[in-house]
Amino acid sequence: MNFGIILAGGVGNRMKMDIPKQYIVVEGKPVLIYTLEQYEQCDRIDRFVIVADEPWRKDILNWIQQYHITKFLDFADPGPSRQESVFSGLNCCMKYSKSEDDVVVVHESARALASVQLVTDIVDGLKGYDGCLPVLPMKDSIILSEDGTVIDDLLDRAKLFRGQAPESFYLHPYWKLNNEATQQELAETRGDHELCFRKGWRVHSILGEENNFKLTTPEDINLMISILRNETVKPTK
Ligand code: C5P
Repeated sequence: MNFGIILAGGVGNRMKMDIPKQYIVVEGKPVLIYTLEQYEQCDRIDRFVIVADEPWRKDILNWIQQYHITKFLDFADPGPSRQESVFSGLNCCMKYSKSEDDVVVVHESARALASVQLVTDIVDGLKGYDGCLPVLPMKDSIILSEDGTVIDDLLDRAKLFRGQAPESFYLHPYWKLNNEATQQELAETRGDHELCFRKGWRVHSILGEENNFKLTTPEDINLMISILRNETVKPTK
């Protein structure tokens, strides 16, 4: 069985809104629902859990009905940090898991525009590896500066990539890895691949998507709206 974990437990302070960014309504639909619809459509995903605070669950259940989402399995409680929320979602999946071969895909609801194809590729890209994540090449020149005001080194951008979500793993070993991590290790982890990489796991990187950006500031909402309205420039060749 392939599980999805949809993280919706953050508060998103940088968005400067009254409600967490995953619940903002954009073009008539809550941000979270864009992700749920993609997971609903993706045939590589069997069921998913949503990591969300108790006060939002009634609204989420209403939206699930309204948008005909059938793969929802259960809610998990958010933790104080992103990775603690992931661990909570993993604990929830483990309750339903019946096979050592089960796969889990961890997604951030703040990345509302990931395509169904990307989720498919992330599951398929796990084969032969311990984990798989999408990455994008760097476009700008990359500078190392210790104090942020003078250049200390020039880095080779050909070897540097930006990591995105969703990330895929085999559920049982990934749960064990998180279960064995200290609370401090979980709190300091920014992306799912970090714990794996530090333990020497082989993590596959595949090409991500520019539209799969993380809604972080109000400008990102404007970008999402223009993409949804199809106002963005398309390549002509
Ligand atoms: O805060 P940030 O944008 O990095 O969060 C990334 C994703 O992780 C978001 O979808 C957010 O809802 C989720 N998150 C969570 N629990 C936390 C912190 C973040 O589920 N404690």
